[in-house]
Amino acid sequence: MMNSMTHSSASHTLPESECTDQVVGDILSSWRYDISGLNPEMRRDYEHHLEECSHCSHRQQLHRTIDVVLISLSTVSTFVFLLALAIIHKFAPLQHFDVVRMYTHNLSFVLSLESAAVMGLLVSLLTWILVAVATPVPVYMKGVALEQARVLQDRIPEELRDRLPKIS
Ligand SMILES: [Zn+2]
Repeated sequence: MMNSMTHSSASHTLPESECTDQVVGDILSSWRYDISGLNPEMRRDYEHHLEECSHCSHRQQLHRTIDVVLISLSTVSTFVFLLALAIIHKFAPLQHFDVVRMYTHNLSFVLSLESAAVMGLLVSLLTWILVAVATPVPVYMKGVALEQARVLQDRIPEELRDRLPKIS
């Protein structure tokens, strides 16, 4: 109502940065634009706002991207540390040399590498769990996966498609 004078100049300089409803925008912001945990009735209003407010929908996309990047990085690092542990265990038996001094020297090296890999693995797993629990990534990923599956299903030849389970 009152911003009819300022609106034209502000919206021209920063077209994306103005929320159409600051109260709803602030609530959404405090939730990191995650409304997946709300019940359907409450969600409707916020979904409506996200549809009409480009500021909030952009923020929502940004936050979901951050979540996906975090979970991807922690997934990759979990596998890297698992691989490192597997490699350490595969090559540790090679330390059985005749020279005892060398054996003990290499053993301690292997052990410290192993403890570093175990630490890294624990940190990666903890990050993964925190991201999965604290963000809507599981819901979001499920949606993306279903969408991909649907796209794939459409590309599969007709005769094959009938034999596969249907994705609704
Ligand atoms: Zn908004």
